[in-house]
Amino acid sequence: MSLTIRKLEEHIGAEVQGVDLTAPIDTETFEQLRGALCEYAVLVFHDQDITDEQHVAFSEGFGPLEMTMPNDPIGDGGPIGIISNLDENGEIIPPEDPRTLYTVANTLWHSDGSFKRVPLRGSLLYAKIVPPEGGETEFASLTAAYAALPERKKTDIENLIAEHSIAHSRKQIAPNLMDEAFQKDTPPVDQRLVRAIPETGKKALLVGSYTTRIHGLPIEEGKALLKELLEWSTQPQFVYRHTWRVNDLVVYDNRCCLHRGRSWDRGKYKRVLHRTTLAGDGPTV
Ligand code: MN
Repeated sequence: MSLTIRKLEEHIGAEVQGVDLTAPIDTETFEQLRGALCEYAVLVFHDQDITDEQHVAFSEGFGPLEMTMPNDPIGDGGPIGIISNLDENGEIIPPEDPRTLYTVANTLWHSDGSFKRVPLRGSLLYAKIVPPEGGETEFASLTAAYAALPERKKTDIENLIAEHSIAHSRKQIAPNLMDEAFQKDTPPVDQRLVRAIPETGKKALLVGSYTTRIHGLPIEEGKALLKELLEWSTQPQFVYRHTWRVNDLVVYDNRCCLHRGRSWDRGKYKRVLHRTTLAGDGPTV
């Protein structure tokens, strides 16, 4: 296969052409793709008419997969998570329904699974149904954001540890979104605020909507720092916005970027994405 890789934004994103995801992909091509993912953080493949099985097979080329959590409404414990505003009959779920509110949390900037002790390494999102307007996904480079920090700030935050909690993120949307079993399965965890990406040696910030506080700092001071770093990381120069087309597959390195879904008219238009996730390589603390 001959790959063409076209950069999308200065700091993040590339479009990959010349790969057919319905066919087996050779080792050399996968090596190139893994290298490109480390370099660009987000890879976009257009016009890929694939099944869930092909989605899973392609994902496995990037590393071991993580199964969906049994208590998470998006999955059934298998490799495919379904991010959708449809009920089991394919009808639009009313916007005020708790099932809708739960997924509205995706509109907050986050790194997938940073509320888990071992955060996810990456995800592969595949568009089945997209709205005619809105519903884009934005990605923000955490390595470019770190590199652009003043040196003094880098020194100040180097060894800080933040607490991450999924309940905290969901509470920003509405109280009582998570049932007790899910909350019990996902207690708060600690993550380094700055981590090194082993393949490139680059450092990345780890911030987002799951963060609650910073150990060793007064609560308000920690919160202010987390807010400041999140705002810093999501400045327009670090962001790629993906406007979905049906049959787009987007791979992102979750260690190197934050992402958020943009809203759309949820009561009017259907939006269905299928997601697989790559397991992390270890805890950050
Ligand atoms: Mn996500």
